[in-house]
Amino acid sequence: MKKRISASCLCSQVQFDCDVVPIGAYCHCINCQKSHGTPFAAQIPFKPSTLRYIKGQQKITEFQSSEHLYRVFCAQCGSRLFNYTTDREKYGSIALSAIDTPLKVRIKAHVCLSTQAGYFSLTDSLKQYSGFFNLERNET
Ligand SMILES: [Zn+2]
Ligand SMILES: [Zn+2]
Repeated sequence: MKKRISASCLCSQVQFDCDVVPIGAYCHCINCQKSHGTPFAAQIPFKPSTLRYIKGQQKITEFQSSEHLYRVFCAQCGSRLFNYTTDREKYGSIALSAIDTPLKVRIKAHVCLSTQAGYFSLTDSLKQYSGFFNLERNET
């Protein structure tokens, strides 16, 4: 089910390939809202070890938003690209907006709804979780 995709930022100075799992979630946590500038982040898992930069690695900036999570963005245009963890099981999630390869993605749920933005209303029938739900480890 893994797929190789290409991704880039708004200014195209950063380009990379990686393997993704095209099943994701909309994350409504406050850190995703603040860093993406949206009421939620649409993202899917990827393996950080499969990431290969095509260009622009020197334009990458990281922000550590919690103990084990780093949020990666383009320092020139500010595009959010991906997150990765530094814990034992290295895990990553990539912003769907960064992916250029046509990809059929299945979004399974809304997560972290305990911090849902007051200006956004849910109108779909996806599953809803108040906290985090790991799609890779707890497939429903
Ligand atoms: Zn950029
Ligand atoms: Zn989040």
